[in-house]
Amino acid sequence: MALILVVVFGVSMSMAMAAFESWADYEQPYKPNLSPVPLLGAVTPLGNYVVVVVIDGARPDIVEKAETPNIDWIRENGTWFNNARCFTPSLSHPGYASIGTGARPSVTGVTNNWLELNGDIGIDNIFKIVNETNETTAVAGSPGWMDLYGNWISENKTIEGETLNMDRIIGEWAVTLIEHKPKLLLVHLYDADTAGHGYGGAASDEYKQQIEEADEEIGRIIQAFNNSGILEETLFIVTSDHGFLDQGGHGGWEEDVLHFLLTMRGPHVKRLEVDGQILQDQIAATVSFFLGYRVPTGLTGGMLFDVFDVDERRKAIYQISLAQIKYNQSTWFAEQFDLKEKYENNISRLEEDLTNAQQVLSQGQYSEALSLAEGIEEDCENLIKTVWEKKHSMEVSSRLQAVSLIYVITLVPSIVVIFILRKRINWRIFSASILCAIGYLLGFWVVFFASGWYFSISLWASPEDFINRMILFVIAGLIAAGFTAGLTAKWILNEKNRWGKIILATLLGLFLVVILNTIYISSHYVQWNYVLDWYFPEGRAWGDFFGSIFMLAQNFYLSILSFISIAVALATSKMISKLSKAGAISSVAKSPPSLP
Ligand SMILES: [Zn+2]
Repeated sequence: MALILVVVFGVSMSMAMAAFESWADYEQPYKPNLSPVPLLGAVTPLGNYVVVVVIDGARPDIVEKAETPNIDWIRENGTWFNNARCFTPSLSHPGYASIGTGARPSVTGVTNNWLELNGDIGIDNIFKIVNETNETTAVAGSPGWMDLYGNWISENKTIEGETLNMDRIIGEWAVTLIEHKPKLLLVHLYDADTAGHGYGGAASDEYKQQIEEADEEIGRIIQAFNNSGILEETLFIVTSDHGFLDQGGHGGWEEDVLHFLLTMRGPHVKRLEVDGQILQDQIAATVSFFLGYRVPTGLTGGMLFDVFDVDERRKAIYQISLAQIKYNQSTWFAEQFDLKEKYENNISRLEEDLTNAQQVLSQGQYSEALSLAEGIEEDCENLIKTVWEKKHSMEVSSRLQAVSLIYVITLVPSIVVIFILRKRINWRIFSASILCAIGYLLGFWVVFFASGWYFSISLWASPEDFINRMILFVIAGLIAAGFTAGLTAKWILNEKNRWGKIILATLLGLFLVVILNTIYISSHYVQWNYVLDWYFPEGRAWGDFFGSIFMLAQNFYLSILSFISIAVALATSKMISKLSKAGAISSVAKSPPSLP
């Protein structure tokens, strides 16, 4: 049985590590890097320049509370979005990727901040589109933008820094870049994020203060456009990559981290307050729409038509383009997933609809073409969703078979061994060790949830706090296991063969933990595959998935700790038992350790 334990233990450990690493080094094998879709008709630009200012980690409600006269000027003369939401993981680089490509993290494959892409995100984007027209693109900010889009950025000034005076430098750089009149300028101000991480989160004065300083830089940028004489030809977009928790941290699925800042002002932009939900993958194509350029081909979102005061023809041309792009994506995904034959009828019907809508457009019936194209886009999105779900469900059912095999290999022999030895097993020791293991798990998870913790990547934002918490939960588990051992010690232990019993009880306790691990890991395997080979769960699923990885890694440590705790607890149980009788330990049991 010891051998089975060692094997299962080794397997669960390596699966836990592989699961975590597959997220850390995630590479989406199905990036829809499709050929450009030209617009079906010439459109005039609504203006000549676009500047996107990203205030890293700016949460809109704190921006509203802060003194931000320049952002207010954009808001009052343009459109403000009350419900703009980013995707999960709500980290910086995934946000930059969605802003530039118009695609979600599951499609861009940018799911964390440490992927090295060396200037090529591997999917169509707004920098590439501007660059291919021989116009200039420029970036002032952190080097992360160059890692994602460097191949298509004509001029850049980037700096990495942990102190709170970077925005001042970046603002000055932006001013010098504006003198060259780049078609598309991205300014990334990130002191607010640094303050949020280092000074206590969105509730801190430092965070609010850095937002106010970012606003000053925006003022300088507006002034520079004015000095260059192109202010009224420029679309200003002020946005952020993600929000922040009051206590610090982002990356998860909480409302405060998903809400990001978005406001824009420029020629043809209406004065509006938009309450409806809009997503981070709607910004890139909006830049295309404004400049009169083609739309990024990997996009999962659309464009913010309603912000602009424009004619039906322009909207129809762009909506047909969106429909065409989503149609290309749906056939591409179906082909990649070997599902093209299965969905052949849907695809050919969509193709007919698309040709029809293009004809309607060429006849000049713009509102008719617009509504047809909207319907086609929706149908294509549904088909994309269907083929993704189909591929995933096919994989889940094939993994179910593998899991049955895991059970046959690990659990069945264990049960058989126990059954054969049932008359020679000391059931008191068996029950006592199971109680110790349960005691450990209860102690750990009760304090975990009681201290307000839950499964979200946002809680990892401060590694020190994370480790302190984990130590606290483990101590709680050890106390609970020790207490259980003290209670059961008299029942199972006497001087005769004391150490033999301790070893046996420890092995049995570990056996229980390993069985729980096996059940847990196999359910994780069925649902997600334990490595992310192509499917990246988003939205609330990401919370669940992160919880899964977290528990997977956790269970590995739990196994070791349960093993140690049971051995230690039983070895010292005489003492604990005596203390327990004397009433000294009851106070420990009644009041769990206080939380920081
Ligand atoms: Zn960020």
